[in-house]
Amino acid sequence: MRDTDRALVQAASAVAKLRCRSAAHTLATAARTADGRVISAVNVARAAGGACPEVVALATAVTQGVSELETIVTVGERGRTLVTPCDSCRRLLADQFPGLRMIIGPVDDPRVVPVTGRAAAIEAGDPTDEPEVCDR
Ligand SMILES: [Zn+2]
Repeated sequence: MRDTDRALVQAASAVAKLRCRSAAHTLATAARTADGRVISAVNVARAAGGACPEVVALATAVTQGVSELETIVTVGERGRTLVTPCDSCRRLLADQFPGLRMIIGPVDDPRVVPVTGRAAAIEAGDPTDEPEVCDR
């Protein structure tokens, strides 16, 4: 973990504390661009459908003309837990930003792993303990 990684976790937690105040918005993502900007997003979970926060962050990055995202982290429980992006999000992120790293694992012992593949996520945590994953 670099200082910039710790700062990214803090950024996601700050967004979660500020914006995750209902069942419709429970997760917050922060992503750092290659030039050091931070893009943040929350999930949308409605009865009619929803979007994971990583998808919202990715779309925001593309909208803002970001060509490379370097690191991403998602938090739940208003910043008390780190959330592993779901398979669908990891595939989407890896397709758009192949070099992306993600911060996952226990909040008191986070790790940084490549976004590519489920093996990376399991490798970073206890394989017997299914990580909390974004699912909208
Ligand atoms: Zn997802």
